[in-house]
Amino acid sequence: MPKLSRRTDGFTDSVIRRMTRISLKYGAVNLSQGFPDFEPPKEILDRLAEVTKEDFHQYSITWGAQNFREALSRKQSRLMKREIDPNSEIVVTCGSTEAMMAAMMTVCDPGDKVIVFSPFYENYGADAILSGAEPIYVPLVPPTFKFDADILENAFKQRPKALILCNPSNPCGKVFTLEELQIIADFAEKYDTFVITDEVYEHIVYKPNEHIYFASLPNMWERTISCSSLSKTYSITGWRLGYIIAPAHIIETAKKVHDFLTVGAAAPLQEAAVTGLEFGDEYYSDLREKYTKKRDMFLNGLDLIGLSHTTPQGAYYVLIDISEFGYKSDLEFCEKLAEKVGVGAVPGSSFFREPVNNLIRLHFAKKEDTLSEALNRLESIKKKM
Ligand code: GLN
Repeated sequence: MPKLSRRTDGFTDSVIRRMTRISLKYGAVNLSQGFPDFEPPKEILDRLAEVTKEDFHQYSITWGAQNFREALSRKQSRLMKREIDPNSEIVVTCGSTEAMMAAMMTVCDPGDKVIVFSPFYENYGADAILSGAEPIYVPLVPPTFKFDADILENAFKQRPKALILCNPSNPCGKVFTLEELQIIADFAEKYDTFVITDEVYEHIVYKPNEHIYFASLPNMWERTISCSSLSKTYSITGWRLGYIIAPAHIIETAKKVHDFLTVGAAAPLQEAAVTGLEFGDEYYSDLREKYTKKRDMFLNGLDLIGLSHTTPQGAYYVLIDISEFGYKSDLEFCEKLAEKVGVGAVPGSSFFREPVNNLIRLHFAKKEDTLSEALNRLESIKKKM
């Protein structure tokens, strides 16, 4: 048999998605892969039912249905505080997973370097490898997850092509402050580097923290490739609707990459999602409130059980310290947790470049009943693990 490509040797399958399969195997409450178990907004579902009877069953324009791009441009122009041109400054992708991959392939040639903060969402490592780029990791140091500006500047001195910024951050829940973003912006300008953002949790931010779009910082529009998706904001992770927003000269190249990778996102789903893009501000403040309640309830439950954990400023993940259980491998811990306690978690080591083995990640994007059930099961963690 001929050998398979060497390109994929450097990474495994996704540990996050593997943990979903392990949770299913043991009938565990799955708090590993971050997705909701509650319904998307009814208005979107009603529109989906109508759309099936309308004429949206063939390819949409490769870079996104006109309606969708126009609605997205209205929403994001309002939030990002600049007029975004729906025709030349947007590409609609199959989730932000494709958006990030296409963004990397748009800016990186094999051998280029990219800065990635650690801990990081595991896709970025594979994205870098698949696009031929080499990651330079800069630590976000627990428990505050702040970065050291000198270490960051040393990374920039290696002349990377891009920095990847996940804000609000998965898995650590960090929301970057204006001061922190400005430090990154100053370096990006000084060392002439692109910034690729992953802002899928833009609407899941806990007060008093506020989300700041990197592209809205002075002079940053020109060098920022903003990636996001509708998955988390409208609870439709399975619809795979994401997008890239960037200046026209970057989008022109991103359109080519996207066209040959996937042709386009699902046409009927884009059409139905327009309804969501047209929601007023109240939808987003309600979403924020809903997640704040879930966060408070879940963290309170963890406190009662006596588990030490992070308090996210944004996104819906908590890192729990498992040092007291004395396991060498957090992977083994998570498999046992699913089997014995009945709760699915992601081993922290899959997010860190550094040798961190004492953290696991749980998410709380679930109905209150599901979270209560998970907390009930976790009550026995100290006995069973
Ligand atoms: N972002 C989610 C997580 O970190 C999962 C996304 C995915 O699996 N595509 O769990």
